[in-house]
Amino acid sequence: MDKRKFTGSFTQQEPLSDAAINAATAVLQSGRLHRYNLTPGELGEVALLEQEFAAWQGSRYCLAVASGGQAIQISLRAAGAEANDLVLTNAFTLAPVPGAIHAVGARPILVEDDEDLRLDFDDLARKAETSGARFLLLSHMRGHLCDMDRLAELATQFKLTVIEDCAHTMGATWNGIRSGNFGLVGCFSTQTYKHINSGEGGLLTSNDPDFMARATMLSGSYMLYGRHGAGPDAEHFAEARYTMPNMSARMDALRAAILRPQIALLDENVARWNRRYLAVAAELAKSNRIVCPVRPEAEGMVGSSIQFRVPDLGEAGCREVVERARLRGVELKWFGGAEPEGFTSAHQSWRYVDRQQLPQTDRVLATLFDMRLPLTFSQRDCSLIGQIICEEVGEVRQ
Ligand SMILES: *Cc1c(COP(=O)(O)O)cnc(C)c1O
Repeated sequence: MDKRKFTGSFTQQEPLSDAAINAATAVLQSGRLHRYNLTPGELGEVALLEQEFAAWQGSRYCLAVASGGQAIQISLRAAGAEANDLVLTNAFTLAPVPGAIHAVGARPILVEDDEDLRLDFDDLARKAETSGARFLLLSHMRGHLCDMDRLAELATQFKLTVIEDCAHTMGATWNGIRSGNFGLVGCFSTQTYKHINSGEGGLLTSNDPDFMARATMLSGSYMLYGRHGAGPDAEHFAEARYTMPNMSARMDALRAAILRPQIALLDENVARWNRRYLAVAAELAKSNRIVCPVRPEAEGMVGSSIQFRVPDLGEAGCREVVERARLRGVELKWFGGAEPEGFTSAHQSWRYVDRQQLPQTDRVLATLFDMRLPLTFSQRDCSLIGQIICEEVGEVRQ
């Protein structure tokens, strides 16, 4: 009997809603695409997006910018990171994270991740102590939140300013509080492969008015910061308007227009992602060779991608799993390869970063697989994908 094949696309998003398309058309017809190109009394799409995202996120302020990477870079600078400052960050993350640290002239100190893809607190404490770093750029990589209560205690103990990279956790919670609310600032991406889609784009949220004034100036507000939707009062700009360089990283009205209707759909989409995640996970649980990261009870996850390890495999076996899955239509990413591929690269490939020894993270990544779960997949698709993975892993010798 022929083996069943999956025929869906792992990179196919859902179409934008009519509401988003109509809002985009209205912006195009107006010709006013720049965020500060407003008629008298008009707030504009970008300022409205900032208001609506701040309200949804539960934060006082929000700033829309050109990308998630820019949100992180601006946050680091606005938080006070300067050339040669040390920034603690996860060893397992995506390249824009060390890239943002590099862009401000700072130097990453990579912290080990554990088998559940969360920051290793022992290693964090050790490196915070010995390095004297003042910043932690915490990347909630692939949506796995570490114990945020304990993290907050460690940040206080070591006087760390925490910047949360929430590119994979927009909508995720820890004990009911949305990720992005546990440090100075939460950074979000609205790039196509994240949880809301404007092609490219970023958001940052904070409750600190002086930090937010600096971030706003850095984003390229000129002296037009009064036209923001969820920014601090003018008094907080007294210094920042002179001291903060303009980094030209604004969001435009077109992207904001298509993002606003998507915020209203987020909570429902989180539930839809999680049903897909659980359908795959239920199949993977039937294999005694496959291990999925533990999802803590306090975590409210967004299952927009799924990760699993096959700890008994060697390098050749891992490559074979990827190839066998591919032949049956299932696109797996493997993080153990020596060469960077597609969106994935491991810390050894970031040659602009000081070389560091991360044996635990390397051991975890050596047998780690990753897969996107777009909302265009049905739950039945997800069960089939899980079955295919189990069957193919079952065929591979150690
Ligand atoms: C996508 C991503 C970013 C950067 O977002 P862009 O909008 O693509 O710049 C940062 N961190 C992580 C973990 C990401 O996946």
